[in-house]
Amino acid sequence: MLDPFGRDVSYLRVSVTDRCDFRCVYCMSENMTFLPKKDLLTLEEMDRLCSTFVDLGVKKLRFTGGEPLVRRNIMSLFRGMQRHLESGALEEVTVTTNGSQLGRFAHELYDCGVRRVNVSLDTLDAGKFQSITRWGKLDQVLDGIEIAKRAGLAIKINAVALKGVNDAELGDMLQWCGDNGYDMTVIEVMPMGDIGGEDRLDQYLPLSIVRAKLSERFTLKDIPYKTGGPARYVEVAETGGRLGFITPLTHNFCESCNRVRLTCTGTLYMCLGQDDAADLRAPLRASEGNEQLITAIKEAISRKPKGHDFIIDRRHNGPAVSRHMSVTGG
Ligand code: SAM
Ligand code: SF4
Repeated sequence: MLDPFGRDVSYLRVSVTDRCDFRCVYCMSENMTFLPKKDLLTLEEMDRLCSTFVDLGVKKLRFTGGEPLVRRNIMSLFRGMQRHLESGALEEVTVTTNGSQLGRFAHELYDCGVRRVNVSLDTLDAGKFQSITRWGKLDQVLDGIEIAKRAGLAIKINAVALKGVNDAELGDMLQWCGDNGYDMTVIEVMPMGDIGGEDRLDQYLPLSIVRAKLSERFTLKDIPYKTGGPARYVEVAETGGRLGFITPLTHNFCESCNRVRLTCTGTLYMCLGQDDAADLRAPLRASEGNEQLITAIKEAISRKPKGHDFIIDRRHNGPAVSRHMSVTGG
């Protein structure tokens, strides 16, 4: 599937639920209104949609959310995708998770052909962890990560850089990741969705500053490593590990964007930072055959925009797009 700018769309991220067992301060407000269950695609419908994308050339699938592992019976979707991994049509199925349910599911994920997981973890301090996630328990996440490691899953830790919250700790986290054989990625806060009383400008920390600070302690060498995502990687000489930077605000990473995002209601977003979207639920449900669905997908891809224009400054402190990250899954 080629978009109008010649980019081959081969990566589909699927948000399987908008619900979550945490309420991270940069992602959700404490009192979220979630979608009525009847609006959600069933897992069978998600299987059909994902399989159609695979038929059209998608090679990588990532399940995200909300928290993907809290959706009831979610393993049946992973199990279903295994046939595409086995046939070679799909190269990789991965998941982005807050880690709370990893202890329960890590072995089954491995068994379904998943080999890498991204775990979001912004701090190793239990008190801070609770204040960032509001409802999370650090021990449970750390146990889940340990079990996932032992199950054979490669682990990448994703940390959102939060000014005055975890900036002083990112060096220790990088060391901890290196000691445990985990890659790490730091992410800039993106202006998505109303998050209640929190102020984006207070949270925003440019990664150029993070990198400069980490360089005082570690030797960071640029490397051409790619995982199909927008991160730019460096190798950390002291630990032998890799560190990625995702900088949507200070760098535009759109030129090489090969992805589209599907929500749990079957809406396809062609860009994380734009509101334009295509409804795939109606063509999916319109008939048992996939012709209408395929036409709708191709039409949507032909509208994929060149890029986004996130800005956080004094004049633009509100959300650039009104939906929360938990809708499109990041
Ligand atoms: N619940 C899962 C998790 O936390 O990994 C998957 C969904 S979560 C929306 C995906 C990623 O988006 C997480 O790494 C989270 O830290 C990040 N995220 C959420 N809101 C964000 C924001 N406003 N700016 C930057 N990253 C954000
Ligand atoms: Fe939930 Fe992930 Fe959002 Fe945190 S970042 S509230 S874990 S969806």
